[in-house]
Amino acid sequence: MRRVVSVKLVNVTKVFRGGVVGVKDINLVIEHGEFMALLGPSGSGKSTTLYLIAGIYKPTRGRIFFGDKDVTKLPPRERNVGLVFQNWALYPHMKVFDNIAFPLRLRKIPESEIRKRVVSVARMLRIDGLLDRYPWQLSGGQQQRVAMARALAKEPDVLLLDEPMSNLDAVLRISVRAELKRLQRELGITTIYVTHDQAEALAMADRIALINEGSIVQIGTPSEVYGKPRTVFVGGFLGNPPMNFLEATVGYVEDKPILVIGNNKLRVPDHYEELVRKLGLNQVIVGIRPEDMGIMDKPVPYRTIRAQVYAVEPMGRETIVVAEVDGSQVKIVTSKSIVLREDQDIHLYPSFEKIVLFDPKTEKALEVLYEEEKLE
Ligand code: ADP
Ligand code: MG
Repeated sequence: MRRVVSVKLVNVTKVFRGGVVGVKDINLVIEHGEFMALLGPSGSGKSTTLYLIAGIYKPTRGRIFFGDKDVTKLPPRERNVGLVFQNWALYPHMKVFDNIAFPLRLRKIPESEIRKRVVSVARMLRIDGLLDRYPWQLSGGQQQRVAMARALAKEPDVLLLDEPMSNLDAVLRISVRAELKRLQRELGITTIYVTHDQAEALAMADRIALINEGSIVQIGTPSEVYGKPRTVFVGGFLGNPPMNFLEATVGYVEDKPILVIGNNKLRVPDHYEELVRKLGLNQVIVGIRPEDMGIMDKPVPYRTIRAQVYAVEPMGRETIVVAEVDGSQVKIVTSKSIVLREDQDIHLYPSFEKIVLFDPKTEKALEVLYEEEKLE
């Protein structure tokens, strides 16, 4: 039986020699058996976080726990983690069998036990027919599975994956991601999956931790981080196309707050009315997902935004309309049957209950800003 292990990072900071800050003040709990994606742009600190968990890097400050055990000072081999890197680095002169067996031989496990484990994990990953081949005789997808098998043969308590699919082509990535998700479920192994690909994180993870410039900006289930972004960064990083942002001035009509976008007056969504008053902001950023806007041919007072069609992109299953509102571009995902011509006037009808309002200064969602102000 596998030991089930949670992973906890408490105020973890890593400053490299020369003063570069890899990550700062990371607090993160990955539950037993959970699949956590660590998502962020290149250079945001994802690999640094993973190597801190693996023990390859030592934190400058903070502590790391596996379950109740403080592993901050433990070397990698005493942490029992399985690590799969971006460029798998299989040993080219070793057959698949020996590649998978290698870490077990380092641990001086008896050869008969090694054979049993290699065959069993190879079967699970459906590469048991390839054990006698060399890495160069395998496709990219097969090599990736060998790297996974090598990490899993150690029967690790925690599986750490650093952009493990970046060497696969786009089509293969989509099929491997379902396999990997399924495998993780079946094994129930605590998994931390580093990726810069938002679609991969949304598709695979139980929860996503978004990281930017060395700090975690939001942790939540895929639907939480997608539907309720805490910052402009999160809204803009998730989704393809990402969330649209429009600058608005806050005005008042008969004592009711309204949003003024260019020549458009828009009601404030009900769930924001009180917050807009309380925070007393003059400007906000209106965030709307491309699938949360309809297109109408006539305006509706306080409900629609006038726009001009800039381009129409038929995508097969759906059509993306690129439109201009008061000098900025927005994208609308709509049904493929829509017929529009360039420069045509249209009226965008957002789903008000889906709108997220942000403070332009801090780029935080108003509810986040309010919570923080209340705490101070
Ligand atoms: P990611 O994996 O998200 O692309 P990294 O964790 O590799 O980002 O890097 C985070 C930051 O730390 C970057 O600014 C990077 O240049 C820096 N960094 C990473 N590794 C080292 C290192 N060994 N020495 C100095 N700086 C590093
Ligand atoms: Mg990296």
